[in-house]
Amino acid sequence: MLYLDNSATTYVLPEVRKKMIHYLSDDYGNPSSKYYSLAQNAKKAIDQARIEVASLLNTKEKEIIFTSGATESNNFIIKGVADYYKEKGNHIITTKAEHSSVKEVCKYLETNGFDITYLDVDSHGRIDIKQLDSAITSETILVSIIWGNNELGSLNSMEEISEVCKKQKVFLHTDATQIVGKHKIDLTRLNGISFLSCSAHKMHGPKGVGAAFIRMDEYNQLLSLTPLLHGGEQEPYRSGTYAVHNIVGFGEACRIARENQNENIKKLEQLEQKFISILKEKFSENISINSDVTNKVPGIVNVRFKGVKNQILLHKLAPIVAASTGSACSTTKPSHVLKAAGFDDKEIEESIRFSMSPYTEIEDLELFYNL
Ligand code: PMP
Repeated sequence: MLYLDNSATTYVLPEVRKKMIHYLSDDYGNPSSKYYSLAQNAKKAIDQARIEVASLLNTKEKEIIFTSGATESNNFIIKGVADYYKEKGNHIITTKAEHSSVKEVCKYLETNGFDITYLDVDSHGRIDIKQLDSAITSETILVSIIWGNNELGSLNSMEEISEVCKKQKVFLHTDATQIVGKHKIDLTRLNGISFLSCSAHKMHGPKGVGAAFIRMDEYNQLLSLTPLLHGGEQEPYRSGTYAVHNIVGFGEACRIARENQNENIKKLEQLEQKFISILKEKFSENISINSDVTNKVPGIVNVRFKGVKNQILLHKLAPIVAASTGSACSTTKPSHVLKAAGFDDKEIEESIRFSMSPYTEIEDLELFYNL
């Protein structure tokens, strides 16, 4: 079976698995128990994993806080900022094309008296920078904007967004879950980004681990926000015994992604071009490509099969191709992302997201000729 649902999750690379097993079976100590090698080795492994994550994002190790994944990081940052700065203001800006773990947090905060602006997006899911600029008020405490869209693949212009937020002196959070390893991220340069979320299982690491990037201020202190989990403070603002095997796996996935980043991006671009050309050749006017082909995270292609219900097609394809209608986190409802991008219900019902990995074989895509 050809797996083209890599935006939902990816397989764990053998090198990653091998490292993880070592910390499940050999160095299984609790890194916070300082006195013996089982624990010290586990602690060293966490420190190294933090270096790997920070290197991939080009930032400082101390700014990386391990979490259980991007859903947690998004909740942690948005709720944590909202709570900590609620006396300063009650306004948060986000977009209509966020992942549900941002969208639902914002909806929840609305029920708690916060005023949320949901910015419109264009036909590819991108915001308008001028609209963002004029939406910021003296009450705005946070802007949260997805970097690479998980359904269409389009990139928001984080460079410009970062500049606007810096100029207006407002915190910026970005959900970068779909782009880490597939798009160059330089948090030292994009210093208008205060917070970022990402997840290991979208980049050939394990499920159940991710990171929240929290920037340090000019005094080398992490920006303040209300802690997510109170307790032993293993991580700043986020207590709990380290899931060493998961963190080590995440670090290894980041190391591999960083070492291969340029080739991986090139490979994903090739895969995407080949995939689109095969579909066009085979299905001509019976399909349309919903994704923009430029300025996007490579490897995510959203396609409409005209006149065919996506769920029926996906069931039929299932023995040979794995893909999905969109986000695995909200499969029961029609995509709010495509809706925000202006697609009607019929178009949404006929759309499928195919997502590739750098480890997808180009030749395997040729099976689409025989469908
Ligand atoms: N944000 C985006 C853009 C995603 O694609 C996902 C995964 N579907 C998440 C957040 C949630 O990530 P996790 O599975 O690590 O909670």
